[in-house]
Amino acid sequence: MDEGAARKLIVEVGNLLYERSYVVSSDGNVSIRLSEDRVLATPTMMCKGRMTEEDLAVTDMDGKPVTDRRASSELAMHLLIYKMRPDIKAVCHAHPPHGTAFAVAGLAIDKPILSEVILTLGCVPLTDYGTPSTDELTESMKPYVAHHNALLMANHGAVAYGEDLWQAFDRLETLEHTAKIAILAKALGGANDLPQDAIEKLVKIREKAGYLKESARCQACGYLHEAGITCDLNVTYPSAATANGKKISFTREELIELLSQAARLS
Ligand SMILES: [Zn+2]
Repeated sequence: MDEGAARKLIVEVGNLLYERSYVVSSDGNVSIRLSEDRVLATPTMMCKGRMTEEDLAVTDMDGKPVTDRRASSELAMHLLIYKMRPDIKAVCHAHPPHGTAFAVAGLAIDKPILSEVILTLGCVPLTDYGTPSTDELTESMKPYVAHHNALLMANHGAVAYGEDLWQAFDRLETLEHTAKIAILAKALGGANDLPQDAIEKLVKIREKAGYLKESARCQACGYLHEAGITCDLNVTYPSAATANGKKISFTREELIELLSQAARLS
């Protein structure tokens, strides 16, 4: 991608992340893969709502700066994804409040509750906690990157990636929207899961339409396997990290507080 256009796009998406309250202060980071060995990334310690095109950093695939700007210390997360997924050209990391609430509560977003999410995103697993900007974080992400397009990181936040930055942003936004709906449905007595045959039909549609490839059948959630939807690939996930089936409950007071918070955020 042309570097000038990429700079413009990162600033636009950075503003949007801030406006939508997916990041505050200097949280989050965004990058675009410019070529085989160049990445354009948001700088360290800067609010995404006040960033300019000149502030962005360019690095090689090992994160070494090639200009005088320093990239975010969380760039390693982006580089891991680019190395493992040649189809990915942009990464978006943020702390959207509802998605991050799942990550803090130790829950994946992996219930078959919304047809369009099964079609376009698939399940979002929860990776083990790892200290930001260290190998711990990237190590815990490794088992999931190949078969997922968005991840929750325990006690931290979310990351989504795509063939371009809008696709990465849209995936992050779908993750956040799904988490918000799941929390609201919980307050109304609980979400109903889609039946297995409906899941099967959705998976067929998404592969035919090209929304997700067959490799996404190997996701770290129970519902694909319960519905007998698997592929030939042999994937094992660290079992502790999948929260499928884990229950959460709230007291009346907690629910009221949660709902009023959700109302303030929307
Ligand atoms: Zn972060």
